[in-house]
Amino acid sequence: MGISLHNVRKSFGPVGVIHDVSMEIPTGDFAVFVGPSGCGKSTLLRMIAGLEDTTSGTIFIEGRDVTNVEPAQREVAMVFQSYALYPHLTVFENMAFSLRLKKTAKSHINEMVHGAARILHLEDHLQKRPSELSGGQRQRVAIGRAIVRQPKVFLFDEPLSNLDAELRVQMRLELAKLHKQIGATMIYVTHDQVEAMTLADRIFVLKGGVVQQAGKPLELYDNPDNQFVGGFIGSPA
Ligand code: ADP
Ligand code: MG
Repeated sequence: MGISLHNVRKSFGPVGVIHDVSMEIPTGDFAVFVGPSGCGKSTLLRMIAGLEDTTSGTIFIEGRDVTNVEPAQREVAMVFQSYALYPHLTVFENMAFSLRLKKTAKSHINEMVHGAARILHLEDHLQKRPSELSGGQRQRVAIGRAIVRQPKVFLFDEPLSNLDAELRVQMRLELAKLHKQIGATMIYVTHDQVEAMTLADRIFVLKGGVVQQAGKPLELYDNPDNQFVGGFIGSPA
């Protein structure tokens, strides 16, 4: 169960960018895809979300083959960088947006948005517009939009890369806490080794569209399979 990928490949025209990736992510795990820019992290995440089709291979979420399933039916929520908020809507309406589209009952919307706001320390900001918030608060709203949908899987694509270093550390801790609190499966994409080491239950190191090694942070740190993983994960040589 959880998420499994079987021999997933992706080409854009003649160019292969994901080469035969297979992986298992158990339910409730915090998985991190880490690797240098251009190695295929976003493409892989977008395929799991259904925003990009697979050239070949199969993707399962909680035992269901979702390879050809619409993004909206996959029970995943992707968290983008904070600039993806609607500037003209309040924090409350930004978080409520997807539920309103689904014609969710008002009382349920209220309950979900206030619940998410409590977790994310946004209760005092619900009537503000994104422009009135700090970078960290905006990023929390983006996460709140995912939480209210109660997805089985959260997908984060470098969500903290727009934030300054200090805030990144703080948000990292909050994400770890969020994961403990709601227990959903999460996949987090980053090119930052420190972020990967501190957040992950399980790390997948990617290079050139191939998983170089997968395992617990300390396993990779202590026993890198090759020089690239050793260099990238940062066990001092
Ligand atoms: P990462 O997120 O690790 O930086 P990406 O998944 O964005 O890497 O990109 C992997 C490779 O696929 C890159 O070489 C990129 O240029 C290419 N790529 C990504 N999206 C497209 C696309 N829509 N069309 C053509 N090439 C793409
Ligand atoms: Mg990317």
